[in-house]
Order: sequence, then C-alpha cells, then structure tokens
Amino acid sequence: MSGTLDRTKLLAARYRAAIDRPYLATALFSITVVESARVPTMGVDRRWRCYVSPAFVARTPVPELAAVWIHEVAHLLRDHHGRATRLPPGTGDDHYRVNVAQDCEINDDLVADRLPLPADRVEPRTYGLRAGLVFEKYLQLLPKEVRSVDCGSGAHGVDRPWEHDDPGGVSDVEAEAIRRDTARQLRSRGDVPGGWRRWADQLLESKVDWRRQLAGAVREAVAWASGAVDYAYQRPSRRSAALRGVILPSLRRPVPRVAIVVDTSGSMGEPELAAALAEVAAVLRVVGVGGNRTTVLACDAAVQVTRSVYSAADVQLAGGGGTDLRVGVAEALRSRPHVVIVLTDGFTPWPDAPLERTRLIAGLIGAQAPEPPGWITAVRVDPTLQ
Ligand SMILES: [Zn+2]
Repeated sequence: MSGTLDRTKLLAARYRAAIDRPYLATALFSITVVESARVPTMGVDRRWRCYVSPAFVARTPVPELAAVWIHEVAHLLRDHHGRATRLPPGTGDDHYRVNVAQDCEINDDLVADRLPLPADRVEPRTYGLRAGLVFEKYLQLLPKEVRSVDCGSGAHGVDRPWEHDDPGGVSDVEAEAIRRDTARQLRSRGDVPGGWRRWADQLLESKVDWRRQLAGAVREAVAWASGAVDYAYQRPSRRSAALRGVILPSLRRPVPRVAIVVDTSGSMGEPELAAALAEVAAVLRVVGVGGNRTTVLACDAAVQVTRSVYSAADVQLAGGGGTDLRVGVAEALRSRPHVVIVLTDGFTPWPDAPLERTRLIAGLIGAQAPEPPGWITAVRVDPTLQ
C-alpha cells in the first residue's frame, strides 16, 4: 500500500517517544520529516532529515513507530555516520554490514528498555552475539554475509538515492550541541538504560578529562605542599604553644599559592596559549585558588613578563626566542608557591631534580609534546576541547 503520508500518526508517535523518554525530546524534535516512497521504512541522513515511507507508517502501530523514532535518533546521537567514516580501511566497505552492526549497538539497549521494535529488527542475539558492545566491535564479530534494513547515510555514511543533497537540516555544530545536551540530561536521571548511560559518559568525559586531571593534580600538589609547609617551615606561635594539646593554628592549611609559567618560545600561537591559560585559571578557581594568589610568568629562554594576576585577561604574552623554562621555574620559586604549573609544548629542558617545597605540574599542549621527567606531574591540555 502506498499513498500519502499519515503525518498525524507519525508525529503522534514522535510525541509519544518524547514524552516517554524526555531526555531524547530535543533530539527527536530536531529531526525534519521527508516523505518518500523510495525509502524501505524509515531512514536518516547526515543532516538529521528522516525519510519516511507512507506505507510503513500505514502498517505500523503507533507504539512501534515510537520505538523506530528512537532507533533513528539513536543513529544520529551516537554519530554513527561520523564513526563509520573513521573505520579502519577495508572494514566499512559493505554499508549493509555496517548498518547491521549499528542496529545491533542500538537495539539491545532499546529492547532492554522495553521498547516494542518491529519483529524483523536485528539484535546481537540474532547472530549469537552478546549485548552491550559498540558497532565497531559487532562489525568484527558478525557473520560474513548479513543484510538488513537501510537506515540511510545518517547511519552508515553512504548517500542513498532518496536523500536530498541540499545543505538544510541540522549542521555538524548543531548536532554536536544536541548530543552534548542530550548526554547531560541523560546523566541527570536515574532511570536510563546502561547503553545510553555509557554513551553519555563517554561523550562528556572524553573531552573534559584533562580539566579533571589538572584539578586533581593541583589539589594533590597543594595538599602535599601545604603539609610540607605546616610541618617543616612554620613554627607554632607563642599563643599556640600555651594551648598545647588543643589545635595548633599553624597546622591549618594555608591558602595555596600558585605560579604559572607560560612557554612563549614561538612554537605555540598566542590564541592557543591564551585559551590554555584561561582554562587553567578556571581550574584554579574550581580548586579554590583566587587570582590574587596566582603569579603568571611568560618565558622563552628568559623571563619576559611577571605579574600577579586577577584574571587571565590581564596577562600579556611576550617572547618568541629559544626555550629554557628552567629560568621561568627558578623565577617563579621566588614567590614561594606551593605549586608551579608550566604550560608548554614540552620542548624545553627541565630542572634536574624534584623541587624541595614546590610541586611542579606540566600542562603539555599539543599531541606531539614529549613527556617531562617522571617526578613532574604531566597533564595533556587541549584547549580546543570543551
Ligand atoms: Zn538502524
């Protein structure tokens, strides 16, 4: 049966999907519907357009249609087409096989979530495989010849004859924003299936990881350095001596002082450095270090600028010569900081031995940055990721 599309039924199904799974509502309503007699059932393209067969809508009950909506939006949220283009050479040539692997990745979660997908769906168990894997893994495990529905270029990444090639719809940047928004909503709920939660964790954590790492490194360094200060370098006051056995005021943790040495030797662009510095300032605020406790030094082979700053915007970067950040670290130590953070591309000599009273953290910028000596805490900083 063909004929015109029953939009009311189709959109009622989408509405139902969004009501039942509110964390998917933004993504579901970002999809544009395109009627097509050529698409086998429903399929999406890279611009979040969903091509819909009127015959499929006519023969499918609303609860099943709602489940198919969620299936289609899952292809887009999980960036299946982007991931398909990054498959190792030779493994993604058969787009039907890729599509089946992707459907396995999605449908085990949807079935576990009690969504009534159509009876001819594929699942991992259709091929004797276990649930919970990503499609790249299913692609390796599936039998040689598999073929199933065609979910469109929004899934397997290969253009289909029914798809539009105009640039409308959702852009890549918008798509990424929708993904992150959905992932955040998902994580704030207790009732979401495991596969969705893993997806959200991976999406959000792979990109904020370095900030957490840096915050952890600064906290640890401050705890270590303030411990050393408390016990080794501060004498109890006379008053506290009189109150021996109570609590010695000198054992209170001091507000940490932090110095940041910025490598301005020319191999890094100023916007990149400014972005990295802004990020570090944000991390310091999170761990409770105010701007007035922070000194920033710009350094190449010599120290160019030193200032106590209140915000990263106050910092001027200068320099552009050779690199020896040991000079910058030595200068930074004059303010007796608990922690020195060095932002660098890593191509610099480092001090020979651990510093006595100060922890050194290297914020390494760029994928090529070499590792510093083992006693330095290294964090790979990528200011382009947010
Ligand atoms: Zn699919």
